[in-house]
Amino acid sequence: MKKQTLVTLDLEGVLVPEIWIAFAEKTGIDALRRTTRDEPDYDVLMRGRLAILDKHGLALPDIQEVIGTLAPLDGAKDFLDELRALTQVVILSDTFEEFARPLMRQLAWPALFCHHLETDARGRIVNYRLRQPNQKQKAVAAFKSLNYQVVAAGDSFNDTTMLGEADTGFFFHAPESIQERFPQYRAFERYEDLLEAVKGCL
Ligand SMILES: [Mg+2]
Repeated sequence: MKKQTLVTLDLEGVLVPEIWIAFAEKTGIDALRRTTRDEPDYDVLMRGRLAILDKHGLALPDIQEVIGTLAPLDGAKDFLDELRALTQVVILSDTFEEFARPLMRQLAWPALFCHHLETDARGRIVNYRLRQPNQKQKAVAAFKSLNYQVVAAGDSFNDTTMLGEADTGFFFHAPESIQERFPQYRAFERYEDLLEAVKGCL
C-alpha cells in the first residue's frame, strides 16, 4: 500500500525573500546583509546582528513592522494553497517564529517549525534560541517514523540534510553552484514545475 505523503518546504528563498537581506534593504542597514556565507560561525553572526539591531534602537515590534511590509515571492501563496489542498505541508525553516509571523499571515498560517527569540518587557531582543540543532533533518526523520513518505524542497546548503533524509528531495530556486554539488536532487525554478514533481510522488 502506498504511504501517505507529507511535504516539507524551506521558507526563505522558496516562499518568501531572505528575511535579513530584505530587512537590511528596507532599513538601509547594510551591516545586516552579512549571511552565513560571510560569517560561517552562526553564533557570531547572530550576536552581531542582535548588537546591530540594538545600536539602531530596533526592538521586535519595529522589526516586525518592517517585515510586515515584505511580501511572499510571486506565486508562492497560490502554490502553497494548491499544495495544501493536495497533501500535508510543513515549513521547516531556520528563521525565528517572531520574524516569520508577518509573512505567515500572508501565507494563511501554514504549519511552521523553526526557532524563537527571547525579548525583554520592552520588546528588545536579548537572545535567540535554536530549538534543536539540525532541526530540518530531524523533523523529516520524525515524520518518516510516523509512517509518512516525505517529499522535501529547499534552496540552499542548510536544506541538504533535509533533502537527503527525505524519500524525495528537490531543489527550488537553488543557485547553480549548489545544484552542481548535489546533482542527485532535481532542481526547479517555477512553482508549477515543483508542483507537478510533487504530484508525481503522491
Ligand atoms: Mg532558504
